[in-house]
Amino acid sequence: MKRIAIYGKGGIGKSTISANLSAALSERGLKVMQIGCDPKADSTMYLAREKVPTVLNVLKEKKNAIQLSDFVKEGFNGVLCVEVGGPTPGVGCAGQGIIAAFQQMKKLNAIETYQPDVVIYDVLGDVVCGGFAVPLRDGYAEDVYIISSGERMSLYAAYNISRAVQNFRSRGYATLKGLIFNSKGGENEVQRVHEALEEIGTNLFHKFPRDPVVQQCEKEKKTVIEGAPNSKLANEYRELARKVMEQ
Ligand code: ADP
Ligand code: SF4
Ligand code: MG
Repeated sequence: MKRIAIYGKGGIGKSTISANLSAALSERGLKVMQIGCDPKADSTMYLAREKVPTVLNVLKEKKNAIQLSDFVKEGFNGVLCVEVGGPTPGVGCAGQGIIAAFQQMKKLNAIETYQPDVVIYDVLGDVVCGGFAVPLRDGYAEDVYIISSGERMSLYAAYNISRAVQNFRSRGYATLKGLIFNSKGGENEVQRVHEALEEIGTNLFHKFPRDPVVQQCEKEKKTVIEGAPNSKLANEYRELARKVMEQ
């Protein structure tokens, strides 16, 4: 089983890339489980075509009566969709929520039950505190990818995420496989990303252009792989899927 974590600043395109990567992997005949670890809980929205009930909400509601089928929903091409969820705004800790949700999934034998070939964790990387770093530890993810544009704040987040990965590396946990450049346009963007790579301590793994086909497909509540399977961007996501599996 391949275990991948996708990190990056909020709004940078983690869920778009994760969902299309999952869809592209499913086209290759792989069983994929995508786990959204962002209080926004919209990681799998375009795979499932609707908002998936979060582990934390279901747990609050059903307590010990919680079952896997309450929060594991099948989306496009059989991709298994899970959303950790988040705390009530202003109360609680999102990181603790991730820990609680992971423990609950373990207790219910989620991985053993569904036996996915690939698990993708889509994780908010603005604050790489102990909670949001959980997917990097305890054997959850093995390969980490950071998504960034050329914007200063997203490169700053990328640097912090890389530092967090390095902190755990010596203990045999996840390793950083590269930076995925999701273009937002703007002056000198490519140059800024290339200059930042050395400081972040990684290589450029893949580059995605900004493409309005993403929004066109979102209107139909679909990933690009599903909504525009013959588009150039769909093929870029497929290329990412191929490269990720080769790692
Ligand atoms: P995150 O999960 O990092 O918060 P999202 O995946 O939700 O970010 O992306 C934020 C917005 O950026 C989405 O509304 C999506 O339409 C847009 N987006 C992402 N990637 C692209 C792209 N390659 N081209 C055009 N729009 C994109
Ligand atoms: Fe929890 Fe991290 Fe937020 Fe602190 S920064 S409250 S540890 S999620
Ligand atoms: Mg997201």
